[in-house]
Amino acid sequence: MPTYRRSVIPTRAGAENLPLVAIVGRPNVGKSTLFNRLTKSRRSIVGDEPGITRDRIYGEYEWGGRRFRLVDTGGIVPDDPELIPTEIFNQARVALQDADALILVVDVRTELASPDYDLVRMLLRGGKPVFLAVNKAEGEAMAAAAENFRQLGIREVYPVSAEHGVGIGELLDAVAEAIPVTAAEQSAETEDEVAEEREVSEGGPLEPGSEDEPHRALHRTHGEFEQHETSIAIIGRPNVGKSTLLNALTGTTRAIVSPIAGTTRDAVDELVEFEDMRLRFVDTAGIRRKGKTHLMAEKLSVVMARRHLEAADVALLLIDATEGVTASDATIGGYAHESGRSVIIVVNKWDAVTTARTDGKPPADRQIFEEQLRKALKYLDYAPVIFLSAKEGKGMGRVLHEVKAVAAERRKRVTTGQMNRFLEKIDFQRAPVPMAKRIRIFYMTQAAVAPPTFVLFTDRDIKLHFAFERFLQNQIRDSFGFKGTPIWFKIKARN
Ligand code: GDP
Ligand code: GDP
Repeated sequence: MPTYRRSVIPTRAGAENLPLVAIVGRPNVGKSTLFNRLTKSRRSIVGDEPGITRDRIYGEYEWGGRRFRLVDTGGIVPDDPELIPTEIFNQARVALQDADALILVVDVRTELASPDYDLVRMLLRGGKPVFLAVNKAEGEAMAAAAENFRQLGIREVYPVSAEHGVGIGELLDAVAEAIPVTAAEQSAETEDEVAEEREVSEGGPLEPGSEDEPHRALHRTHGEFEQHETSIAIIGRPNVGKSTLLNALTGTTRAIVSPIAGTTRDAVDELVEFEDMRLRFVDTAGIRRKGKTHLMAEKLSVVMARRHLEAADVALLLIDATEGVTASDATIGGYAHESGRSVIIVVNKWDAVTTARTDGKPPADRQIFEEQLRKALKYLDYAPVIFLSAKEGKGMGRVLHEVKAVAAERRKRVTTGQMNRFLEKIDFQRAPVPMAKRIRIFYMTQAAVAPPTFVLFTDRDIKLHFAFERFLQNQIRDSFGFKGTPIWFKIKARN
């Protein structure tokens, strides 16, 4: 058995207010310009001279259905240039306390200096999602220059031009995904589902808006912190063995700790330390919830899977070996795939099909089972499969090692140089795609991790044919791996 320590901790309580995103950085990098563009207002003064005095200024923004508040920390910069680094530090520290996510803005044309590294280190230590906006990146050369800023150690790097509105969408997509979902937003989104779930789990619907609504602040951690912590969702149909697996992975003593008396329905995460990693099993309270009727429980398991995926880096998709892959398994697997999370397929109850079977069938064969499973879950071809018995507590070490491997792959980055050499070697003639759907790729870069996302600079702006996408994915996997994680593409047409 692997060695690990376990603790039960409550998830952050739901935020009543909108999530707060803070914009930080040196003077003159374009923070106000970015702020103004986002809030589409002119409430902060933009000026060229460092040392101009401004107030901390708040605005609101909506993107992709997510609303958040923005604060521009640019203001109150002292006239004495000597004091500027200290002052930026102080402001960033305040921002770090208040904000749910931070956007550090740098000017693509400036040289990095040691205060920049110090600032980044401090920001990352805060454990909040940090995004680097490399501003004033106009034109392709500048976008490439933005790559240099990866040295700072922030994984989420976005070349933007605040002035010209370039690259802002990508930045906001990432920010919107990382900030916590407020209770209000969540209940609006899944009102029907949640109502249904309450009926299932509580034996009757609650009054809408009642005080003890289950809050759930969904957090994805980024930056330095994330190297050490990986969030894991255990998903699957009722009775596949989710809580048995959780028990086996986290130890045998079970204690549901609720942060506040009477709020046992709150989400509870469990932390396990494994080697140099911290594994966070998300919303384990949900895993233990049992449905009343089979049909309701089945529906609930899909609702819960979607919710758990939002908070996770890696999903353990459980399949019951005694039943094979069912339609609901495929539905849940489909959500896992689309969510962009890494997936490990766990075939549980393997003990029950390999030893003397009560139903008179011959013992199951791993290879045949996997072939059938792969056929039923085609889109998850990148997900490793583990056969185990949660009940006997066998195979837990393999699960934890696989989680570790998959979490690392998910955050892996391929340099543009490596990508160019790779692209030269691909024989696109082998791609099984109709001529009319063929596009030329001039070059490609990995724009993001988790999941690895590649931007293809192409001659035409058409959607990638699925066969072409699959071809390219396989080529990338052959060269670079990316086990367990989906690979995403974005097209940028040259025109
Ligand atoms: P702050 O001190 O960080 O808030 O920076 P400001 O928003 O006041 O911008 C400083 C200067 O950079 C202004 O002259 C802006 O017009 C200019 N600037 C801001 N964003 C961009 C950009 O995307 N491209 C270019 N070329 N200039 C920009
Ligand atoms: P959940 O609804 O997905 O959380 O499933 P449970 O963990 O409650 O397990 C459902 C049933 O399957 C229980 O009776 C478990 O004892 C049984 N079970 C779970 N894991 C295994 C396993 O590895 N082998 C066998 N034979 N039974 C298992």
